[in-house]
Amino acid sequence: MDEAYSEVIDAGTGTSNPMCKCGRRARILTAFTLRNFGKRFYTCGNYVNQDNRGCDYFKWIDMDICQHGKRVVSKLFDMHENLKNERAQIGTTILNEILNCKLEVAEYKVKMEVVSLNFEMQLQMQKNKFNSKEMKYRFALACLLILLVVIMFYPVSNANSSRLRLH
Ligand SMILES: [Zn+2]
Repeated sequence: MDEAYSEVIDAGTGTSNPMCKCGRRARILTAFTLRNFGKRFYTCGNYVNQDNRGCDYFKWIDMDICQHGKRVVSKLFDMHENLKNERAQIGTTILNEILNCKLEVAEYKVKMEVVSLNFEMQLQMQKNKFNSKEMKYRFALACLLILLVVIMFYPVSNANSSRLRLH
């Protein structure tokens, strides 16, 4: 737990700060470890982060905190840990919910596509049926017209042929 709270806050570089081994003015950082909560210290002027601490220059500025302060800090750390865990759990729950929603949406999409395909197929089938019926009716109509023409001209040609026979 001590290591989990080793963040630091840069309190700036003063002109009265001691020089580090690199020959630069030391930076002032604040420890947030359980043991040294809120204590400021000098560090290398080239300090970047925990992994890149320059020449490793180190000197405490503030005194140790009292026993009561340490208990308060410990309690605060516990509360902070609980909050972090709760936040992580809530994050996981939300992520799961989002995943479920995405899955449901994907399922509905597939269903809708199937319904749409079925509808299109049925529509095409109805179109085909309609087209074949239309062809039949047209054929029937053409036959009827031919028949009508034959009926209309048959007696005339018949009469003509009988008249021809008379001559
Ligand atoms: Zn240095």
